[in-house]
Amino acid sequence: MVLTAADQKKGTAGYAEVHAHGDGSLTRKTADFNYPENVRFECTRCVLCCCDTGDRKRRIVMLREEARAIAKATGKLVSTFAVSIRNHAPYAYAVKKTYGRCSFLQGTECTVYSVRPLVCRFYPFELTTADGRYVFHCTLECPGIGRGPRLGSRYYLRLLREAYRRLGNPDELREG
Ligand code: SF4
Ligand code: SF4
Repeated sequence: MVLTAADQKKGTAGYAEVHAHGDGSLTRKTADFNYPENVRFECTRCVLCCCDTGDRKRRIVMLREEARAIAKATGKLVSTFAVSIRNHAPYAYAVKKTYGRCSFLQGTECTVYSVRPLVCRFYPFELTTADGRYVFHCTLECPGIGRGPRLGSRYYLRLLREAYRRLGNPDELREG
């Protein structure tokens, strides 16, 4: 899959969220973000993103709260499906794999789909920051890139909201 310069042209959009406090005051958080404007994406369910590949060992990282949610949903102890990881904050665990496949993968189905980690929700996109903005990038290894509908700002906004909700780092969102 080759993206042309036009595909990779950056779109720009804004994020805003209003928080109501117990004392009745309101705080407004805002953030700008860039996204690849002409990228099309439709998952082909090839499960490449859930498995190691010939040249890449995949680390499926989880927040502590995500591991707890999966433990609750599956009735399993966290230690049965995850290993602790250090120096990878805010992530606390990595999902165990069996023969290079995520242990939650059964055939082509994710058995914890409704509570899957943020990194799985983001794939094939990643988020970085530059010049006070969030910037979305896509990985070209995913066969779903270039298929299906062109993704608009709403798609990325949804991801950004989810990241904000789970990572909860108000310092990274400017107050407006
Ligand atoms: S690699 Fe891409 S197309 Fe394949 S399952 Fe993952 S998101 Fe879907
Ligand atoms: S948790 Fe689900 S979506 Fe994430 S890598 Fe495992 S099987 Fe794939």
